[in-house]
Amino acid sequence: VQKPIRNYDVGELRRLDLAHHLPAQSDYKLQRELGGSRIITRAEGCTITDAEGKSLLDGMAGLWCVNVGYGRDELARVAYEQMLELPYYNTFFKTATPPPVRLAAKIAEKMQASNPALTHVFFNSSGSEANDTIFRLVRHYWALKGQPKRKIFISRKNAYHGSTVAGASLGGMTFMHEQGDLPIPGVEHVLQPYQFGEGFGEDPDAFATRVANSIEERILGVGAENVAAFIGEPVQGAGGVIIPPDSYWPKVEAICRKYGILLICDEVICGFGRLGHWFGHQHWGIKPDLIAMAKGLSSGYLPISAVGVSSEIVNTLVEHGGDFVHGYTYSGHPTCCAVALANIEIMENEDLIERTRTVTGPYLAKVLKRLENHPLVGEARSIGLIGAVEIVSEPGTNKRFTGKEGTAGPIVRDLCIKNGLMVRGIRDSLVMCPPLIITEAEIDRLVDILHQSLNEAE
Ligand code: PLP
Repeated sequence: VQKPIRNYDVGELRRLDLAHHLPAQSDYKLQRELGGSRIITRAEGCTITDAEGKSLLDGMAGLWCVNVGYGRDELARVAYEQMLELPYYNTFFKTATPPPVRLAAKIAEKMQASNPALTHVFFNSSGSEANDTIFRLVRHYWALKGQPKRKIFISRKNAYHGSTVAGASLGGMTFMHEQGDLPIPGVEHVLQPYQFGEGFGEDPDAFATRVANSIEERILGVGAENVAAFIGEPVQGAGGVIIPPDSYWPKVEAICRKYGILLICDEVICGFGRLGHWFGHQHWGIKPDLIAMAKGLSSGYLPISAVGVSSEIVNTLVEHGGDFVHGYTYSGHPTCCAVALANIEIMENEDLIERTRTVTGPYLAKVLKRLENHPLVGEARSIGLIGAVEIVSEPGTNKRFTGKEGTAGPIVRDLCIKNGLMVRGIRDSLVMCPPLIITEAEIDRLVDILHQSLNEAE
């Protein structure tokens, strides 16, 4: 396929960006100071290129999503053919189209590999919407079960569950709560399993117990009869790639079961291979009642998200209610679903999940670990193809630079970008989440650039 290489007038685009465009999750003062955004114009494999011709290794897979890498003409072709046949139709009039039906069955197959109870799938366009759907579905479920008081969601501090009112409320980022007077009532935030930051030097199992117990304490504090569900990302992504100790998730699951509350896994980042499994929770062998998924579901080629739902919830809806008055114009969008299905087929055909678990994931872990010899690195951790580097002021500690806490990540990130690598700086850490097609040679380059940029920051 001949791919277009267009020339853009960078000056004009940056001028229009400043004059008319409010980019999402951005600092608009900084946008002005920088004279507009960096304009990315094309990408291939694991490499993105900007309008000025600078290429960067994409250590973030876009925004934790381009799992199969860029430039997949088979996905473009599927979208083109679906648009010619039926670009759009909805599910509001007792109707469905082939792509969402087939995609739901495919997702059910992946969920049921470890948990046969997860039978059904509800579609939306974004991860935030998936969590909004869960918010309403769960409360509706408990009302239908005759327990309408069960309304409270327990989540973690520093969790990210999206940007909508419900998503940002479920999330535990206080700087997000400050904008828009959030969280809405009915969301409780408990400790996060951030061992490096909040359990440094503590025995991992003792730390996991302490953190999981904060859930039980909160359940008892608000009254178990008022709690609807616990929600968590298997690995917190935007919070700084927080990988819990191994015994954390089984303990959380046991607490949920003890009090009869639903367990929700937000798999928006961890799903579709990121941790070397179809879903991140499968790494710990737990069985959630609901799953939110997005991003890797279509590798970001088109916007789509989904909610995986257990048969118990579906049967309750059918037997006690019937209707669920919730959904979006683009729920089950045929073109998005067709592309997502083809994306999953690429992952299957190229064994990307298995490769992440057995080859590239362990390789990233091995080379990243070497960074722990660097005097600025307190920890370099990863699982599958997602990882983080903690920047510290004294080797062997978790001490940050006094008076500059929270700034080291963005400083080193800017150096990485200058040196040809796109990563994200989150407070005092750098996080990475490359496409699952990344090669060992590209992983070497990623870690070399991290190393070089840390040297330049010293
Ligand atoms: N949940 C998690 C775990 C996420 O990481 C994100 C986005 O980064 C979301 C939800 C929200 O997804 P979206 O940005 O598609 O609304």
